[in-house]
Amino acid sequence: MKFKELAKYFERLENTTKRLEMFQILSEAFKNSSVEEIRPVVYFLQEMLLPPFYGVQIGMADKMTLKAISKAFFVSEEELNSKYKEKGDLGEIAFELNKKEDSELEVVQVYSELMKIAKTSGEGSNLLKINMLANLLNKSSKLESKYIVRFTQGRLRLGVGESTIMEALSVAKLGNREGKEKIERAFNLVSDLGMVAEELYKSGLEGVNKITLMPMNPVRPALAERLPSAEEIISRLGKCAVDEKFDGFRSQVHKDGDNVKIFSRNLEDITHFMVDVVEEVKKLPYKRIVFDSEALAYDENTDTLYPFQITIQRKRKHNVEEVASKLPLRLFVFDILLLEDQILIDKPYSERRKILESVFGEEGKIQRSRILITDNPSELQKFFDEVVTNGLEGIVAKNLNAPYSAGARNFNWIKLKRSYKSQLEDTIDVVILGYFFGKGARTELGIGALLVGVYNEDKDVFETIAKVGSGFTEDEFKQLRKLLDEIKVDNKPARVESLISPDVWVYPKYVISVKADEITKSPTHTCGAENGVGYALRFPRAVGFIRSDKSVDDVNTTKEIVEMYNNQKKVKLENVDV
Ligand code: ATP
Repeated sequence: MKFKELAKYFERLENTTKRLEMFQILSEAFKNSSVEEIRPVVYFLQEMLLPPFYGVQIGMADKMTLKAISKAFFVSEEELNSKYKEKGDLGEIAFELNKKEDSELEVVQVYSELMKIAKTSGEGSNLLKINMLANLLNKSSKLESKYIVRFTQGRLRLGVGESTIMEALSVAKLGNREGKEKIERAFNLVSDLGMVAEELYKSGLEGVNKITLMPMNPVRPALAERLPSAEEIISRLGKCAVDEKFDGFRSQVHKDGDNVKIFSRNLEDITHFMVDVVEEVKKLPYKRIVFDSEALAYDENTDTLYPFQITIQRKRKHNVEEVASKLPLRLFVFDILLLEDQILIDKPYSERRKILESVFGEEGKIQRSRILITDNPSELQKFFDEVVTNGLEGIVAKNLNAPYSAGARNFNWIKLKRSYKSQLEDTIDVVILGYFFGKGARTELGIGALLVGVYNEDKDVFETIAKVGSGFTEDEFKQLRKLLDEIKVDNKPARVESLISPDVWVYPKYVISVKADEITKSPTHTCGAENGVGYALRFPRAVGFIRSDKSVDDVNTTKEIVEMYNNQKKVKLENVDV
């Protein structure tokens, strides 16, 4: 496929907000892609060169892109700067300056040139990168240069969801939507949709079915649902394993020979700041092992675990060794996915746990979590009270018969946290969809309130749930305004359903956690709306700043909100009884 064709698909995607139309455009684009092209096409649609765990980024700051445009189209940087201030979109500016209507660039060629730019590093690399991008822009047509520029800036913003990509791949290649489930299973195991798509194109669904866990490719993490009480957990799961819930950062560890990699909850490669852990992992007497754990910093003198706020200081790029010696990490292993040649992911939890216990002891830098197996709510409650007294966050109850649910949040894992008096003592993660200008004293801060939403999995859209106007400091409001202005868009973004129009729409990118007093029914918000009545948060306030550890895929779902609403009713009734 020529890149100009892909650019036309981008343009069509940009101009629609309807999911069905997006789906049709994607199916068409996929039908037009060859085996060699499908991988880069999928990556372009996901707005990346490679999945995050490869650590490959284009690394062009706005200034560098501007210099490349200046070189490619012989316009002074001053002039470009003033145009940029006025328009705020370098892609649009490149489109205007570029007079070429046509080009012969191939998709694969553009991808590999962008890859070369990304891989250029070291001294003098900035200038090289600028020249390479200028060269590419020079060869491209108007429309192509618009999207190349936006891509290098991380601002393609086509708003295509992974779920829609998977469905469209199935339709394009198999003629029906039935393959989506298998594609998703493979994606959950290797976290690389481009790779799965390529396999689909090479060997059909049979090839996709053969994809399995591969050391060094992170598995998309299993996530937990929540319930408000020990009784509810037992009535849902029956006899279950009750695991300690640690409040550190999630670490998925892969070892293959001497090669060790550790991935975060967001599947970023965090090996570089886990130097001390890597050494310990290397000592494990197994050639191949993959396990899921939580890392916490601890005080060596008193042998006590530090709270999250301290542990998180380990996540840094510089002075890694120094911080590692001051704040050593301990890993608490709560699941095992591979041991030597045995892939354990589909085995029931009880079997995985047995293997886990044969590998990890109760002490040391890498130790297993402590569990209780019970079908008795009072026993569960006692264990919970005990771990909370010990300073932990709560428990995660686990279905003894369930496989590891890669990439899914379901009731195979159920969390109960110390802060749950009612469900809503816990925070809800929402995505920022837009903002309102402030009034009065707020004018100066630039933002009066944020419009936020949750994710509707069935419809693959974001639905609004609240306006959040408190919880941030003045400084944070100012910082937010700056960050949000970088991602503002002219119209309601694709895949956002809203009855409210904020003063400024933004591309769904940033996640915040909020607390609320209650979930109420409301005609104002689209979350879970039926017959014009949706769900809303009452008195929402932000907790902390932007959650850099979470992506928009991690926000709470509409289903969860409805569940919380129903549970909240139960909690209220229980309180009345008391
Ligand atoms: P939270 O903010 O409550 O940690 P979350 O959205 O990050 O929520 P959840 O799926 O709700 O993730 O809860 C599971 C998280 O809890 C995991 O991502 C993991 O980091 C952490 N965790 C700590 N201990 C355990 C355990 N024993 N089993 C599973 N997850 C655990």
